[in-house]
Amino acid sequence: TMAHDYVKNVVKNDDIVVDATLGNGNDTLFLSSLVSDGMVYAFEVQRMAVEKFNIKMREDNINNVEVILDGHENMDKYIDKTVKAVMFNLGYLPGADKSVTTKTETTLIALEKSLKLLQNGGIITIAAYIGHEEGSKESMAVLDYIKTLDPKAYSVMQISYINRNNAPFLVVIEKNDSYHED
Ligand code: SAH
Repeated sequence: TMAHDYVKNVVKNDDIVVDATLGNGNDTLFLSSLVSDGMVYAFEVQRMAVEKFNIKMREDNINNVEVILDGHENMDKYIDKTVKAVMFNLGYLPGADKSVTTKTETTLIALEKSLKLLQNGGIITIAAYIGHEEGSKESMAVLDYIKTLDPKAYSVMQISYINRNNAPFLVVIEKNDSYHED
């Protein structure tokens, strides 16, 4: 995916990175492959998804991922180091309970915490879906929030299809390399 291309460009093999929404595990597997000497923290609130991925990890001998059965809004309870990348894939898990979707309020908390944990030169990607009601509200809230980020500290991009209706869009936030707070 396009999010993977952006992340690949900045993540090094000893980095610590986060998948804020494990889901079916595609982003976590991708991140795991990038950080052979690093660590992936993956958050998920659905026990089924966590168990499924834990089995996959055992089968494939993956040992650089820690899956956490808790909401991404609590990520600072589990991660006490700065991180190079955080990936969000919002919405609900296709094929699972559609009522278990990411929610505006907790997504914004997680995003704020991600920005705090992010290293200079690090990246956050957000795949946002506007095709369902909560997703549309959530996507707009995410855009409203990231628009306010200090341009000296962050480069913020929205990448979207302009010839499709209700298409998902991607947000890329880069923390500038030489940024330091005054
Ligand atoms: N919409 C995407 C898939 C998103 S999966 C697509 O169509 O491909 C999003 C995952 O986030 C789901 O598995 C859901 O259970 C999980 N999730 C929901 N709330 C969460 C939270 N607060 N913290 C972490 N994960 C959460």
